[in-house]
Amino acid sequence: MKIKIQLKKNKMRKKIVAGNWKMNNDLAQTQTLISDLKKSLPATDAEVKIAPTYTNLYPAYEALKDSAIEVVAQNMHQEENGAYTGEISASMLKSVGIKTVILGHSERRAYFGEDDALLAKKVDTAIKHEMDIIFCFGEELEDRKSDNHFKLVESQLKNALFHLEAAAWKRIVLAYEPVWAIGTGETASPEQAQEMHEFIRKTLADKYSQDLADSISILYGGSVKPANAEEIFSKPDVDGGLIGGAALKAEDFIGIVKAI
Ligand code: PEP
Repeated sequence: MKIKIQLKKNKMRKKIVAGNWKMNNDLAQTQTLISDLKKSLPATDAEVKIAPTYTNLYPAYEALKDSAIEVVAQNMHQEENGAYTGEISASMLKSVGIKTVILGHSERRAYFGEDDALLAKKVDTAIKHEMDIIFCFGEELEDRKSDNHFKLVESQLKNALFHLEAAAWKRIVLAYEPVWAIGTGETASPEQAQEMHEFIRKTLADKYSQDLADSISILYGGSVKPANAEEIFSKPDVDGGLIGGAALKAEDFIGIVKAI
C-alpha cells in the first residue's frame, strides 16, 4: 500500500531535464544545436528545456515554439524597468515568449554577488509576472567538508523562498546543485544527491505540508552526463537534472533525456 501511494505521488511530479548553456553559443551555433536537438529528441514524458544566452532567446523561441522543447532564460533583473544598464526584465522576457527563468545559479551568486535577499526579490518579481522559476542552490565544498551542508541548504531555501505563500510554489522547480560538482567533472554520488533531496523535501513538508513537498520537482545539477544520469535519476527524490557542460552537445543532452 505504502509503495502504491509513493508511486502515485511521484507520478504527480514533473520530470524535467533542463540545459543551461551559460555564455556559450552564438546565433549560428544556437541554430545548429537546436536543429540537432529537434532531430533526435526522443518521445518522453519529461519536460525538456534549454537556456540559451539572452541574445538568442527569441530566435530559439521561434525555432522551438511548435516543439516539445521549452526555451528558458538564465537570469533576469528584479526591477520592472528603468536605469539598470545591461539588465533584462521579466516583461522583456515574456515579450519574446519566455515563461520560465533560472534564478540563483551558483555562478550568479559567486561572480555577480547575488545573495539570498536579492534572489528573494527576483523570485517575487518573476511570480508577479506569472513566470515559472528554476531555483538553484547548493553548498560549497567547505560547507560539505565541515558538515554544514544541510544547514546551508536549509538557510538558502528559507531566506530566498520561505516567504512565499503555498500557492506560489506551483511556479517553483528546485535545482540542488552542490557547487563543488558544477563544471568540475566531480558528481555527487546518487546516494548523496538522494540524501540531500530527501532533506529538502522534508524541509518543505515541515514548513508547508507533505502534499506541497511531494508536488515539487527537485532537480540535481553537477556534472551530469549520459553515463551517470540514469543512476542519479533513479533515486526517488530526484526528479530530473539541470545540465551545464553536457547540454552543449546534442548527443550528450539527448543521452541524458533518454536516461530519464
Ligand atoms: C550547471 O551549471 O548548472 C551545471 C550543472 O553545470 P555542469 O553540468 O557543467 O556541472
